[in-house]
Amino acid sequence: MPKYVPSVGMEVHAELLTRSKMFCRCPVAFGGEPNTRVCPVCLGMPGTLPVPNQAAIEMVLKTALALNCTIAMNSVFHRKNYFYPDLPKGYQVSQYGETNPLGYGGYLEIPSAGGTKKIRIRRVHLEEDTGKLMHLPGGGAGVDFNRAGVPLMEIVTDFPPDIQDQEDAREYLVQLRQVLLYLGVCDGKMEQGSLRCEPNISVRLEGSDQYGTKTELKNLNSFRSVQLGVLYESERQGNVLDEGGKIVQETRGWNEQTERSFLMRTKESEQDYRYFPCPDLVPMQFDDAYISSLREALPELPLAKKSRFMSKFGLNEGDAELLIADRSWAEYFEAAVELGGDPKSVCNWMNSDFARLLNESGQAARASGEDPDGRTLSKVSPAHIVELTQAVQDGTISGKIAKEVFEQAFESGKLPRQIVQEKGLTQITDSSFIENLVEDVIRENASQVETYKSGKTGVFGFLVGQAIQRSQGRANPQLVQQELKKRLDG
Ligand code: ZN
Ligand code: MN
Repeated sequence: MPKYVPSVGMEVHAELLTRSKMFCRCPVAFGGEPNTRVCPVCLGMPGTLPVPNQAAIEMVLKTALALNCTIAMNSVFHRKNYFYPDLPKGYQVSQYGETNPLGYGGYLEIPSAGGTKKIRIRRVHLEEDTGKLMHLPGGGAGVDFNRAGVPLMEIVTDFPPDIQDQEDAREYLVQLRQVLLYLGVCDGKMEQGSLRCEPNISVRLEGSDQYGTKTELKNLNSFRSVQLGVLYESERQGNVLDEGGKIVQETRGWNEQTERSFLMRTKESEQDYRYFPCPDLVPMQFDDAYISSLREALPELPLAKKSRFMSKFGLNEGDAELLIADRSWAEYFEAAVELGGDPKSVCNWMNSDFARLLNESGQAARASGEDPDGRTLSKVSPAHIVELTQAVQDGTISGKIAKEVFEQAFESGKLPRQIVQEKGLTQITDSSFIENLVEDVIRENASQVETYKSGKTGVFGFLVGQAIQRSQGRANPQLVQQELKKRLDG
């Protein structure tokens, strides 16, 4: 059997987090009653004039810079003409050409096969979203124009494709989404459609430089779907070729339930969109000073932050990855370290107990500001984490008690040292207390003590555990071990 290798081009659409639409002042939001966020401009009424949204242009420029693109210092909007009921004007305002899009010729670095890989980006351009067709409950269809005219950024990878399989395809999207979230330009909600990914996939014989006919995949609304979809589509194409068939250029949908792709429409010929510069919109012009100021204001990006966390704080890759997965989570970590927390311990508390409690309660943690999704903020501040780690480090409380203290701090918002004091949870190091404790344990566990003395020393841990439990977790474990060893071995 011949062996096929896939090639994947990625086209990503990201709705921009602006307050208003691209060319009018209608608000941008998700959901709500159909056609409640519309006006003559976004409904494409004759005689209306578009006014470009400055914030949207700036968001695309920032993204283009973060993706290492060249910026088009002079750039125009084009009309992309086609007819479809969700497109009120009969054209979409978009950007055409190789060097006209706001950004072009960039790349995104992704982790791949133990190292990193550059995925070249052909263009980053600005356009507007369309409305949404909806099936009506009683039959028939309607159009909701709430989404029409929402600022939309399109990011397209270069040809020939650098993405060779479903793993890289998924990773590209993971990294790209994270960059967009760090920049604060998109909320990245794939399930709500604010981030949409349409990979085009082709296969070719291994060793051949002849690229095959590609198909485009739609309706992928999770990372998992992207991964499964690309894999499925490359295998499907290989099977068609093996059976002597031909790949047809077509758009296919992804069915999440059956985990298969299905034919949506065949592209008989490349549609002629009759692109031309939009006469209603003045050309955009930028100067060097403006672009430099945007470049300087870029935040540290996820991969850079990850390697800095590893080299500066000695964290392992897995820990660093969890911390940088969310920008505010990473900022929370750094705020705690700045307050004097030991990086490794702060990281451990955050990624285990704290993450779990947040998850269970539906709360969010932030070093400052509000949660963009409106979740309640945790009462645990970076200062709480620092105090807790220090109380463990200086031996005031045991690790076991610390977990209890943390849960109470999470509930009440009280500082760990106050909880320890109020509940009398300090660790006991008093030697006569430890001696009595060990004495009791030896007396009450005679058979285990026999076992130990007969050479099966594995039972030692059990005896230590008994002593700690008896002290309600307050006895210092090292001292208990010392005393127990002395009594058993001596
Ligand atoms: Zn409007
Ligand atoms: Mn587009």
